[in-house]
Amino acid sequence: LKTGNPFKKLNDEIFVYVARKQKEIDELKKMEQFRREFLADVSHELKTPIFAAQGFIHTLIDGAVDDEFVRDKFLAKAARSLDGLDALVQDLVALSQLETGELKMHFDRLDIRQIIDEIFEQLESLANARQTTLKIKTTYLGPVWVKADRQRITQVMTNLIQNAIKYGNENGKVVVSLEEDGKKHIQVTVKDDGPGIPPEHLSRIFERFYRVEKSRSKEQGGTGLGLAIVKHILNAHKTKITVTSRLEKGTEFRFKLDKEG
Ligand code: ADP
Repeated sequence: LKTGNPFKKLNDEIFVYVARKQKEIDELKKMEQFRREFLADVSHELKTPIFAAQGFIHTLIDGAVDDEFVRDKFLAKAARSLDGLDALVQDLVALSQLETGELKMHFDRLDIRQIIDEIFEQLESLANARQTTLKIKTTYLGPVWVKADRQRITQVMTNLIQNAIKYGNENGKVVVSLEEDGKKHIQVTVKDDGPGIPPEHLSRIFERFYRVEKSRSKEQGGTGLGLAIVKHILNAHKTKITVTSRLEKGTEFRFKLDKEG
């Protein structure tokens, strides 16, 4: 039918318009669902340290304060809960700024090797407590120059190295490797020889508040946001992080950074 239906064009346009609007509505619904779940997660995560601190303080008020030993123990526990709350709020602010793109990156030429040395120094007492050895492996003799945001890349490296110490074995070894990857990139690897992550959890560990072992993570002072922050920061550096893990062998996180002359 060459002449066709005069309304066909209009009909098609309406069809396309309705389909587009339906897609927009679906996306908005998804965002709303996501926002609701996030709010529920955040409230739950905030309540935990608040309730704990409240509990310790009320027990002190109700009389535990009279026993010097119990008092000190409960005060220390309350302080630990509030430290956890502080870490959580800081991570939440960082994550929300990263997600809205509010946090502008400042790219500089920096020596990633020096940054790792500084982080090793800062994490020395944690590593000692777990009797973990920290090592840098590289064929570079001097500085390893990359283009990155100093503060944010420090946060990425700190989160990964801290996790490797926390979730690796006691008496374990954490190795950070810096290798040349073609002319333009440096490959960064953070590797531990810990118990590893079961395959069914591996694809989910970058989600906010996802923990393989909830109690273990909390006991170690984890907010459950570390890897989500890592992923976002590396995204802003136009690079992706990958993870491989073998049970009883260990876990390895990898990403590339731009080399800088
Ligand atoms: P958390 O604050 O709980 O450490 P992260 O986002 O940094 O949160 O990590 C998410 C979860 O991934 C952790 O709770 C832990 O179960 C797991 N995980 C992270 N790094 C390692 C690792 N190197 N070895 C084993 N498990 C790990």
